[in-house]
Amino acid sequence: MGKILSKSGLFALQNCTACPVECGADRMKGVGACGVDGLTVAKYYLHPFEEPCISFDKGSGTVFFGGCNLRCPYCQNYEVSRAQRGKKITPRELTDVFKRLEDMGADNVSFVTPSHVIPYLCEALEIYRPALPIVYNSGGYDKVESLQAIDEYIDIYLPDCKFYSSALSKRYLGKEDYFDVAEKALLFMAQKPLKMREDGKMLSGLVVRHLVMPLCTGDSKAILRWFSKNVGDKGYLSLMSQYTPFGDVEKFPELNRGVTAREYATVLAYAEELGIGNLFAQERTSKGEKYIPSWDF
Ligand code: SF4
Repeated sequence: MGKILSKSGLFALQNCTACPVECGADRMKGVGACGVDGLTVAKYYLHPFEEPCISFDKGSGTVFFGGCNLRCPYCQNYEVSRAQRGKKITPRELTDVFKRLEDMGADNVSFVTPSHVIPYLCEALEIYRPALPIVYNSGGYDKVESLQAIDEYIDIYLPDCKFYSSALSKRYLGKEDYFDVAEKALLFMAQKPLKMREDGKMLSGLVVRHLVMPLCTGDSKAILRWFSKNVGDKGYLSLMSQYTPFGDVEKFPELNRGVTAREYATVLAYAEELGIGNLFAQERTSKGEKYIPSWDF
């Protein structure tokens, strides 16, 4: 079988173009630029440290997939994103994971780094769709056609918006076109109706995450201006301060420190100046190893 045929789309795995990298790998025979051929899972559990509307009461039922189409050098989950960890499973076996998370009382089921495994997720969700909000938590480097294929199953989009400047995205991600791609993806995601329950649990909509990086407050402000103009009240902005040096940062000495209180306060004040009301801010103590899960596989 060389294709995953679903009612929501057709993905040719022998010449994969499921994500914007469009590397054309034959995933029936080997790995693509994302580092995986099929579907691997490194961990699933109730995550207590997402935004309050996502982790809510018992926790977000996060599923961490192996591999990534961005593979940022500073990734805090680098053991997983570089595909060194993870257990290979089938889409049907993934539905057992959904059921276990439901039994554990998860407030939602959240796919972490799903852009390169959308074909397998569509297949799993056609077999079994959990009776919980489904969260799509990506690096923002998503292809609109693939999002269209999975959109009917997704309730909440939780993408990053990492860099506005093509020079910065080229330097840190090796992707000069990062913002051009992410902008189209975010505008598509912003069409999801925003539904927040009275008790603060998110049922549907968009939360854009932006991680403030060392020496990048000017770039953060450009992202905030874009968000204010193009998303505004149609979604939420989550301004994150938790950057901690991990992975391969020796090539980037400026990244070998956390974000200062002043850098984060500057960006937060600018969000308030722009009148961004749907805003999650993060305490500056919210950094370090407590955000790094211990991997199961
Ligand atoms: S999902 Fe992986 S194999 Fe497919 S185009 Fe993207 S990087 Fe290549």
